[in-house]
This record gives sequence, C-alpha cells and structure tokens, in this order.
Amino acid sequence: MRRAVFLDRDGTLIEEVAYLRDPARVRLLPGTGEALAHLRRKGFALVLVSNQSGIGRGLVRPEELTQVHRRLEECLLAFGVRLDGAFYCPHAPWEGCECRKPRPGLLLQAMHQMGVIAEGSFLVGNTDADIAAGKAVGCTTVLLTLCPDLKHPVIGDPPADYRAGSWEEVVAYISQVGRLRHRGDNKVETTTVWQGDGCRLPNAGPFIHKPSTFE
Ligand SMILES: [Mg+2]
Ligand SMILES: [Zn+2]
Repeated sequence: MRRAVFLDRDGTLIEEVAYLRDPARVRLLPGTGEALAHLRRKGFALVLVSNQSGIGRGLVRPEELTQVHRRLEECLLAFGVRLDGAFYCPHAPWEGCECRKPRPGLLLQAMHQMGVIAEGSFLVGNTDADIAAGKAVGCTTVLLTLCPDLKHPVIGDPPADYRAGSWEEVVAYISQVGRLRHRGDNKVETTTVWQGDGCRLPNAGPFIHKPSTFE
C-alpha cells in the first residue's frame, strides 16, 4: 500500500485568496515546489484535499475551479512536481456533506481511490479543520503556519502532531518521522475527482511546459 502526503490548497500550497476563481492569482507559497519535489522523491503520493465552498455558495463556477487547478498544476510542474490526486469538496457548510473538512469523508475517499493507508501518511494544512480531518483518519498531522487562514484562525484544537513555520520544516519533520517501507511504489494513475456530485474534473491531458508562461 502507498503512503501519501495529503495537502490542503489555500494557505498551504498557495496564497490564501477568498473564493479564488482567477487563475492569474495562483501564487505558490515559498518553498512549496521544492518541498513537494522532495516528498515525491521520497516515495509519497501527493494528494490535494481541499474545501471549495465557493462552488456551493455560487461564488465560483466549476470551470473556474478547474482553471485554478490547472494553473496550480502548471506552477508545480515548473518544479517537476505532479500531484498524484486532487479531491475537492464543492459543498457549502449548510449542506452538511460528509466530505467538507473537518469531516473525514474527502480523505477517506482519497485513501480508498488511491490505495493509500493512514499509517505512514501525513496531512499538511493551515487550519484546525485540516488537522481534525487528518487525525480522524489516523494520519500524522502537520500544521503549517506559513499563511494563516484569516477566516479560521488556528485555535489548536485538535492539536497537530507538529507545527511547522515553513515548508523546509515540514520536509525535515516528515523525513525524520516518515518511515517508508515501500519505496518507489508511487505509480498510481493520477486521479482528480469531485466529491459529492459524482462529477469528475475533466482530464487536463499532457501538459506542455512553456517556461515563458511562468512568472
Ligand atoms: Mg487552508
Ligand atoms: Zn462536501
């Protein structure tokens, strides 16, 4: 079975922008690309798990989320990084779905679809909701305080297994704690799934790296 590092998106991989819908505003946080490249070399599957209630609130269109996701993929590819999977909860809080973090549904779905087990897997996020979801499924949790979520200030309940102030600290911690028993078994098809509506994000197809398109 594979080990994964589950990754929150907003305020963890990229700068926090409320209800982000413009791909031009996607900015990787410092050290993100290098850190993910390192974790992937260590054999972890990289799996995005993100609440995007802007969809359920009618503030972000699904196509806009797809464009933002593609832009994120482009930014990561500049570091030679591909996400192994991406799972989004599109629901508004009042819909009471099982997949919106802090509930564990999104992680459980990702684990099931990607053949990932919790033991030896990690979750990196910037809110208590991320940590709660990671703990609920039995991952080791890392609170990254690089870009705090202003709408959801961290209370520290539940406490993360580790607090990191930078992506370098995240990598150092995971390298120290992570014991990968199966190296090199990260060859599973990339999966990008909408939770809830049974609707799949269209496959982006092969990406051609054009350095001129990057800042
Ligand atoms: Mg976040
Ligand atoms: Zn949901």
